[in-house]
Amino acid sequence: MAYPALCLGCEARLPDPVDALCATCLRGLPRADAEAVTRLLAHDPAVGAAVALWAFDPGGTVRRVQHALKYGGRPALGVPLGRVLGLAARDAGVSVEIVAPVPLARLRSLDRGYNQSAALAEGVAAALDVPVADLLVRTRPTRSQAALSASARRENVAGAFALAPGADVSGRRVLLIDDVLTTGATLAAAARPLAEAGARVDVAALALAGA
Ligand SMILES: [Zn+2]
Repeated sequence: MAYPALCLGCEARLPDPVDALCATCLRGLPRADAEAVTRLLAHDPAVGAAVALWAFDPGGTVRRVQHALKYGGRPALGVPLGRVLGLAARDAGVSVEIVAPVPLARLRSLDRGYNQSAALAEGVAAALDVPVADLLVRTRPTRSQAALSASARRENVAGAFALAPGADVSGRRVLLIDDVLTTGATLAAAARPLAEAGARVDVAALALAGA
């Protein structure tokens, strides 16, 4: 691997090159406020439980982890981080039969060559000992949500997801995975086609960002 196995928090050498963080930094990261996470998505009829693991710390370790995962060319980080998220979801009472990533917009996916949410979903599924499946597709391109207001975000992603061809989720309990939860607009829009197809949908994200 081209990258040295150094902790993204303290730069200590890591025994496993796919790990992102040493045990000390992992334990010390700021946890997301569970009530704030629930409030973002509680009103949405398509979403059951909502879990986010860490709180964004501008300039801090969570930000560095998310950046490395998304832009740093280290998609392998997603799997061990996903395992941590999966255990947190289980501790929060989430019980599902299948894990699915939020699909990336096609252009962004090609640009980066991978979907960081798919790597996270793989780790979550491993931790929960359930399968992972691509249950959703994008129906149209969307703009980056970063510069948009909450209502513009909802408009931007409304109807942007559909059930993948051949996916049968009727009566299934699905956990939908994204890397960052901000207003909840993307996860809510992605949950909708699954709920409409008869799934019970919970959602989980690695980090909660301030909107
Ligand atoms: Zn460390």
